Parts: sequence; structure tokens; C-alpha cells
Amino acid sequence: MEAGSVDKLANLAAVPLWYGLGLAACAVLLLLYQVSKSCIAGIKKGIVYMYGCVHLHSPLRLGIIGTTTRGRFVAWGLFVIANGVGMCLGPNNTTAWLVRSARMASMNFFLVACGGKLNYLGYVLGAPYSLAEALHKWAGYIGIVQATVHASIAIALKKPQDLWTDAGFLTVAGLVALAVLLSLKNKMYETHRFIHIALAIFIFRGFWVHSWEHLRPQYPITCISLWGSGFLLTKAMQLYRMAVGTGYAHIHVTHFQGAIQLRVETRRPSEFLPGQFFYLCMPRAHPFAFLQSHPFIIAWWDGISGEGTKTVYLLIQPRRGFTSRLLMLGHAISYRGFLEGPYGKRLRLDDYGTVIILASGIGIAGVLPYIKDLLLGFNASKAKIKRLHLIWILSAEGELG
Ligand SMILES: Cc1cc2nc3c(=O)[nH]c(=O)nc-3n(C[C@H](O)[C@H](O)[C@H](O)COP(=O)(O)OP(=O)(O)OC[C@H]3O[C@@H](n4cnc5c(N)ncnc54)[C@H](O)[C@@H]3O)c2cc1C
Repeated sequence: MEAGSVDKLANLAAVPLWYGLGLAACAVLLLLYQVSKSCIAGIKKGIVYMYGCVHLHSPLRLGIIGTTTRGRFVAWGLFVIANGVGMCLGPNNTTAWLVRSARMASMNFFLVACGGKLNYLGYVLGAPYSLAEALHKWAGYIGIVQATVHASIAIALKKPQDLWTDAGFLTVAGLVALAVLLSLKNKMYETHRFIHIALAIFIFRGFWVHSWEHLRPQYPITCISLWGSGFLLTKAMQLYRMAVGTGYAHIHVTHFQGAIQLRVETRRPSEFLPGQFFYLCMPRAHPFAFLQSHPFIIAWWDGISGEGTKTVYLLIQPRRGFTSRLLMLGHAISYRGFLEGPYGKRLRLDDYGTVIILASGIGIAGVLPYIKDLLLGFNASKAKIKRLHLIWILSAEGELG
């Protein structure tokens, strides 16, 4: 091979780094977008207009992905393509593939380390809950495939004697187990959560040892720093909210046919927006409830918009776990609870003349604040709404009382 082409290939070794820088640049752009939102409202309107023009909000139903929007599908496609390019561009022998797959997997694990909820990090970057969850999941899946490619090449090249003592192999085995166990999530959420956390610690330990063995400690250090900063930021905000009296609440439980209403009263008032939700921890619900927190959308709140309120209401449909225990709590009694959030992004509907809202079952809780907001906006001549259609689908007569 000519010296020039060898140089070119050597330069391509930096592709995973460019991929990582690309991800970081996206985060910086999101942050700039968030900042510019408050400074230049016009920029945002332009972006929203362009976004609307190409119908990126239109729903799309695809077998393996489920229901999504065109915009999300395009973003997901670009993410997969970026990974494909990152994996394929450059390596021309098995050793180069070995290094490349390890680097690409590490870059994706940086995203995974930001956490499934992203919490305040996501809040600051304006990432909605579903996007943060999807990024965690898809960066994880793709990272697992890349790590498996890396492990397969390593085994083929080095033919190690005892795989089960090798930190790298154990890491990949842990990753595969984690992906397989995801099927438990909907059936046994809490059990799955504990196994997921335990496996994540096991995987991180293996990743740490393996990276130090290969003199690449920067990868696990970056991972733990990203995870740690998100975690600390979230905990610091929680402590701050507790200190100022908005992270701790008295919760009044009311049951009505088939549903539960929680009246949440904080010590200090805060302002709320449609689309926001809390993670609620109610230690009295059952013996292990202090280890759990569940997301619930704010269905409505007392007081007038812009003035802040101490009282918000949550509407809950009992399922099998924590929510079913709420049914066993004394009716109309007050309990202590801890709130994390509010998180969630408000959709701006003020510019639309006709709004059609679809809600199914308890999903009505999420749309009530939008309906109130639109009506208040209409009365104050701030919203262009002329027609509002609400379609509420209930599986049985009398569902939710
Ligand atoms: C952003 C958001 C807002 C929500 N708002 C409401 C609301 O206003 N009213 C309402 O009734 N429900 C709401 N939910 C759903 C609610 O969080 C779950 O029904 C509740 O956590 C179930 O608790 P459980 O222990 O009884 O669940 P289980 O009976 O153990 O599981 C039932 C389902 O809930 C999911 N689930 C369980 N725990 C959690 C958790 N901590 N986080 C996310 N999903 C979980 C499981 O995957 C499963 O699919 C919301 C969910 C999200 C993600």
C-alpha cells in the first residue's frame, strides 16, 4: 500500500472521536437553542414553522419501532447511519475493526451514561422524557452490538483460555444479559429496575478493569463523570427543592370509581405548565415504596396561571404495583410524599386555529391542562384557537368513574 493511503487510513482512526464530538455538538446546539428561545422568540417561531412545513410531526407506524413521528424516525435513521459510518469508514484489517468497534461502543455508552431519564440535564437541554428514554435505549442497543463485534473479534484473534475470568468478556456477557432482561420491564418494572442497576454496576466494573488493562482509562472515566454529573445535578436540585419547600408535600388520597385522585400540597408555591409531570415517592404506600418513584402528569392545579400555586392534582389509574397500593391507603387521609421535578415539555398550541385532542383512559390527565390553557388564552385573546375537539376513548362505560 502507498504511504499516502496509509496516512489517510491512520487519520480515519479518529472517526469515533468525530462521532463523539458530533454528539457533543448536538448537545451544545440544543443548549444554544434553549438559550436563544428566551432571547429571540422569532428564531424559535421560524424553526417551528420549518419543522411544520416538512410535516416532521406527522405520525408514523412501523413494526419494530412502534408509533413515532416522521421527525423522530429521521433522527433515529441519522443516528443509525452515523453509527454505520463510524464503524465502517477506515478499518481495513481485523485489528483496526477491533479498535474501532471498542471506540464506537464507548462513545455510545457515554450517551447511555447520561441516564434513562436524563432528568435535569435533559430538562436544561430541553429533551422531552420520551427522547431521553429513546436515546438511552437505542444508544444502549447499538453499543451492545458494537461491543459484541469487539468481543467476537478479540476472541477470534487471541483465543483466550478462560473467557469467564476475562473482564472484557464478562462486560459483554453482562450487556447481553441486560438487553435480554429488558423484556421483563413491562411485566415486573421494579424487579427489572433492580436487576438493571445491579447489571449496570457489574458491567461498569468490567469496563473499568478492561479499559485500564488496555491503557484506555479515559473511556470509563468519561462515562462515570457523565453519569455522576447528571446524578449530582438531579440530587442537588431535589435538595434545593426540599429546602425551599417545593420538593416535599402532603398528599391527600381520594378514591373514586376505578381511579385515584391525589391532591399534592407543597409548602411553597411554584408555577406549572401543561405537559409537566412529577416523580412521586410515597414511603407509606408499602414497605419498599421508599425505594420507588413513579411519574405522574399534573392534571390540574389551583390558582391562576402566572401566580404560582401550592396545590396540584394527579389522576391515577391503578395498575398492579405501587398504584394498586394507593387504593389500600385510607380514603381522604393525608400522607407525606417527595416530589422530583417537575419535568416535561409544553407543546405550544396557541398558534393553531383548530386543535384536535385525543386521549385514551387516564391519558385525559395529560390533556386537561392544555384545554384549560387554550381556553384561558382564548379569553385573553392570546391564543388563535377557534375550534377545539376532544376525543376521549374509554375501554368501558364507567372507566375512571
Ligand atoms: C411521563 C409519564 C407520565 C405519566 N402520568 C400518569 C398519570 O398521570 N396517571 C397515571 O395513572 N399513570 C401515569 N403514568 C404511568 C404511571 O407512571 C405508571 O402506571 C405507574 O408508574 C405504574 O406503577 P405500578 O407500580 O402500579 O406499575 P406496575 O403494575 O408494576 O406496571 C404497570 C406499567 O407501568 C410501568 N411502570 C411501572 N413503574 C414505572 C415507573 N417508575 N416509571 C415508568 N413506568 C413505570 C411498567 O413498565 C408497566 O408497563 C405516566 C407515565 C409516564 C412515563
